[in-house]
Amino acid sequence: QKITIAIDGFSSTGKSTLAKQLAKALGYIYVDTGAMYRAIALFAMRNRFVGVENENVAALIKLLPNAKLKFVFNEQLGFAEMYLNGENIEKEIRRIEVSNQVSRVATIEEVRHKLVDMQKEMGKDKGIVMDGRDIGTVVFPDAELKIFMTASPETRAYRRYKELLDKGDKVSYEEVLKNIQNRDYVDSHREFSPLKRAEDAIEFDNSDMGMEEQFDRIYNHSLR
Ligand code: C5P
Repeated sequence: QKITIAIDGFSSTGKSTLAKQLAKALGYIYVDTGAMYRAIALFAMRNRFVGVENENVAALIKLLPNAKLKFVFNEQLGFAEMYLNGENIEKEIRRIEVSNQVSRVATIEEVRHKLVDMQKEMGKDKGIVMDGRDIGTVVFPDAELKIFMTASPETRAYRRYKELLDKGDKVSYEEVLKNIQNRDYVDSHREFSPLKRAEDAIEFDNSDMGMEEQFDRIYNHSLR
């Protein structure tokens, strides 16, 4: 009997690592909804609708139908990559420049409607693990298993900092920490569907827990 698994929480809490592990172990589909918000942020940046100096929400909303998003499974990597209008943007959307804009773009109601509709469609059939900020509250309020992940901002910034360095991105730990604190704030204070724990979600603080241990706990204790 397949179920729906919703994983929410703050930025860089290891949601996608856990979601990928669970999807692989269960033979489920994994959907990274953050990639979809990042894709729209990149679309907005390329059209010069958001950036340091300008922000034109109305123009972005008008152009939203032109942003065609698609996940394409990459056999080699073992997960789906994000495409925008036919272009693989997986690498570009992980850059800090996109991280710095994405939370503002994610406050726009029309953007959320477009992406939430797509996510509901993707999860029509059970057997899906989806991670994000509003999966257990808005996208799949009836999910059989909901997990809410937290960790201290410093732990999360350090993990993300190491990841970006490994990819060759030139960033400082301070910049990453500031980005994480900013996104936490914007994500949990936006007017339209803010980030919050679903009442029936299991909370996991993994500040002092390795990814292996976390997977083991959830897989063996919550799913069996
Ligand atoms: O998960 P990730 O850190 O890649 O998400 C990037 C940003 O997209 C988040 O900081 C948040 O602003 C937004 N987001 C959202 N709702 C989701 C997933 C992501 O608002 N379901």
